[in-house]
Amino acid sequence: MTVGPDGRRLLPVVGHAPPGVGHLRGGRTFPDAARDALADTQLRRNLGHATATIRTKRARVVEEVDDWEQLRAAGEAIKTATMARLPELLTQLEERVVAAGGEVHWARDANEANAIVTRLVRDTGHDEVVKVKSMATQEIGLNEALADAGIAAYETDLAELIVQLGDDLPSHILVPAIHRNRAEIRELFVRTLPGADPELTDDPRALAAAARAHLRARFLAAEVAVSGANFAVAETGTLSVVESEGNGRMCLTLPRTLITVMGIEKLVPTWRDLEVFLQLLPRSSTGERMNPYTSLWTGVTPGDGPQAFHLVLLDNGRSAVLADEAGRAALHCIRCSACLNVCPVYERTGGHAYGSVYPGPIGAILSPQLTGIEDNASLPYASSLCGACYDVCPVRIDIPSILVHLRKEHVEQQRTTRRVPSAEAIGMAAAAWTMSDAARWEKAQTASRAGRLLGRRRDREAGRIRSLPGPLAAWTAARDAPRPPAETFREWWRRTRGPGDGR
Ligand code: SF4
Repeated sequence: MTVGPDGRRLLPVVGHAPPGVGHLRGGRTFPDAARDALADTQLRRNLGHATATIRTKRARVVEEVDDWEQLRAAGEAIKTATMARLPELLTQLEERVVAAGGEVHWARDANEANAIVTRLVRDTGHDEVVKVKSMATQEIGLNEALADAGIAAYETDLAELIVQLGDDLPSHILVPAIHRNRAEIRELFVRTLPGADPELTDDPRALAAAARAHLRARFLAAEVAVSGANFAVAETGTLSVVESEGNGRMCLTLPRTLITVMGIEKLVPTWRDLEVFLQLLPRSSTGERMNPYTSLWTGVTPGDGPQAFHLVLLDNGRSAVLADEAGRAALHCIRCSACLNVCPVYERTGGHAYGSVYPGPIGAILSPQLTGIEDNASLPYASSLCGACYDVCPVRIDIPSILVHLRKEHVEQQRTTRRVPSAEAIGMAAAAWTMSDAARWEKAQTASRAGRLLGRRRDREAGRIRSLPGPLAAWTAARDAPRPPAETFREWWRRTRGPGDGR
């Protein structure tokens, strides 16, 4: 299933997000980018502090809910059922939005979505928009596309504003400036906010007040707003944005024109379904019982709020994800970011290392599927498979299993596209040949004893090898190898149980 640019039609074309536009691909592999991040002690300190704080808050409020596991199961079931009839529900959503006075536009990919939004803004005769924090618009690189067309886009979420003022990239789904501390933000505000007080302190309230004063003028002048959507209810055509700062409410109500860009997977069939997610999301994301602002709107209401509403439904690779039975659960994600906050890899590397607007465990399964595995081949390996992400995910996405599935897909692809087998493939074939015969395996184990002589004496005594020779050096580049035992298991068995063939 996919969607067409003229709207109104679901086209039987499955494609990935196009390269060269948006923020789904990094310039470097994850291990390369992670190496730099790991060397930045300030970054690690900021990340460690922030993720631990949110993690603790989340655990506390989840603990209070007796039927949390049933809620998770309900969330998973609703998402699974929604994906099973997504085309039908999208059509229903379109009908309801149009009936309520809105317009629906279908975008096959990032280029089409950017072109649609640019045209809609131009049609209003304005060259500025205010924005509500939105992963979808970051994914497609909308701000850059608007800037190319001479349209200024102003982020109004505090953390997004910090990222934009710093000409930076977001590093967390929920807290995009998680890599910045208060002192860094104070310095940024003094340097970049027009009219900022040079005596501004790094007290969080003072920083928030400075941002508020700056944004208030933008809200009052804005004629066009661009938002994402957390959910869309198919049965009524209602869109929803949940947020904590009230900036979203301002953007969604004050301007005359509202343009919402939404991934096609954000649907729920009914209002009753929405109730489940409005309980799961705030507890999982900010560790709050309820998010402070939940905005809901259906088309346009004469004399109240925006008088023109456009919904841009974005595919950008989602059809390809939906087509993969083993990987499609990645589309169930409600972007709470709980999996980031518990991930030992994310906590140490931060989000930039993932090279995509979707970092952490969800990014490691979503980005390679949206782009095609070849463009993000290192991401499925950016995990220890500890399973902490699965345990906290409010919609029970089995992230470790999808990571393994994508690793397999990558290996299979390498096998079919490489003319010369990789060193890993040769090594695995040699291991399979050796292990498939008891005598061969025993000889190999005996021969491995030579490895006892490798490395420095201190390491040998500690039972480890820091550096293996030849092609095996790649293994010890990132980890130690255990020193082979003086006696193999079979030798020990024969010595303690008497002679036999040791099988
Ligand atoms: S995968 Fe689950 S835990 Fe991670 S952001 Fe999505 S919904 Fe939240």
